[in-house]
Amino acid sequence: MICKKVVELLPRFIENDFSEEEYNDILKHLKTCKRCKKEYESMKALIDKLETIPLINVPPSFKDAVMKNIKKGKNGR
Ligand SMILES: [Zn+2]
Repeated sequence: MICKKVVELLPRFIENDFSEEEYNDILKHLKTCKRCKKEYESMKALIDKLETIPLINVPPSFKDAVMKNIKKGKNGR
Protein backbone atom coordinates (compact mmCIF):
# COMPACT_ATOMS: atom_id res chain seq x y z
CA MET A 1 0.00 0.00 0.00
CA ILE A 2 1.31 3.45 -0.89
CA CYS A 3 1.69 6.27 1.62
CA LYS A 4 -0.71 8.62 -0.16
CA LYS A 5 -3.43 6.03 -0.02
CA VAL A 6 -2.75 5.23 3.62
CA VAL A 7 -2.93 8.89 4.62
CA GLU A 8 -6.20 9.24 2.74
CA LEU A 9 -7.65 6.28 4.58
CA LEU A 10 -6.40 7.27 8.01
CA PRO A 11 -9.54 9.09 9.21
CA ARG A 12 -11.61 6.00 8.49
CA PHE A 13 -8.93 3.83 10.02
CA ILE A 14 -9.14 5.80 13.24
CA GLU A 15 -12.90 5.39 13.27
CA ASN A 16 -12.47 1.65 12.70
CA ASP A 17 -14.58 1.94 9.59
CA PHE A 18 -12.86 -0.91 7.76
CA SER A 19 -12.99 -4.53 6.90
CA GLU A 20 -10.48 -6.62 8.82
CA GLU A 21 -8.35 -7.08 5.72
CA GLU A 22 -8.07 -3.36 5.00
CA TYR A 23 -7.43 -2.66 8.64
CA ASN A 24 -4.55 -5.11 8.72
CA ASP A 25 -3.06 -3.67 5.54
CA ILE A 26 -2.96 -0.21 7.03
CA LEU A 27 -1.72 -1.46 10.36
CA LYS A 28 1.09 -3.27 8.60
CA HIS A 29 1.98 -0.13 6.71
CA LEU A 30 2.01 1.98 9.85
CA LYS A 31 4.41 -0.46 11.47
CA THR A 32 6.89 -0.15 8.63
CA CYS A 33 6.45 3.50 7.67
CA LYS A 34 7.47 6.14 10.18
CA ARG A 35 6.01 9.02 8.21
CA CYS A 36 2.53 7.53 8.07
CA LYS A 37 2.74 6.48 11.70
CA LYS A 38 3.47 10.06 12.66
CA GLU A 39 0.63 11.25 10.47
CA TYR A 40 -1.64 8.71 12.05
CA GLU A 41 -0.69 9.73 15.56
CA SER A 42 -1.20 13.44 15.00
CA MET A 43 -4.52 12.79 13.28
CA LYS A 44 -5.66 10.52 16.05
CA ALA A 45 -4.71 13.07 18.69
CA LEU A 46 -6.68 15.70 16.82
CA ILE A 47 -9.75 13.53 16.51
CA ASP A 48 -9.53 12.50 20.16
CA LYS A 49 -9.39 16.16 21.08
CA LEU A 50 -12.37 17.01 18.90
CA GLU A 51 -14.40 14.25 20.45
CA THR A 52 -13.75 15.50 23.95
CA ILE A 53 -15.05 19.00 23.21
CA PRO A 54 -18.61 19.02 24.51
CA LEU A 55 -20.39 20.55 21.56
CA ILE A 56 -23.72 20.31 23.33
CA ASN A 57 -22.43 22.53 26.11
CA VAL A 58 -22.39 25.67 24.01
CA PRO A 59 -23.81 28.40 26.22
CA PRO A 60 -27.43 29.24 25.36
CA SER A 61 -26.48 32.91 25.16
CA PHE A 62 -24.12 32.06 22.34
CA LYS A 63 -26.86 30.26 20.46
CA ASP A 64 -29.19 33.21 21.02
CA ALA A 65 -26.61 35.63 19.71
CA VAL A 66 -26.11 33.52 16.60
CA MET A 67 -29.84 33.27 15.99
CA LYS A 68 -30.30 37.01 16.46
CA ASN A 69 -27.56 37.72 13.98
CA ILE A 70 -29.19 35.42 11.46
CA LYS A 71 -32.54 37.15 11.90
CA LYS A 72 -30.94 40.57 11.82
CA GLY A 73 -29.18 39.71 8.62
CA LYS A 74 -32.43 38.62 6.97
CA ASN A 75 -34.48 41.62 8.10
CA GLY A 76 -31.75 44.11 7.41
CA ARG A 77 -31.94 43.62 3.67
ZN1 LIG B 1 3.70 5.40 4.52
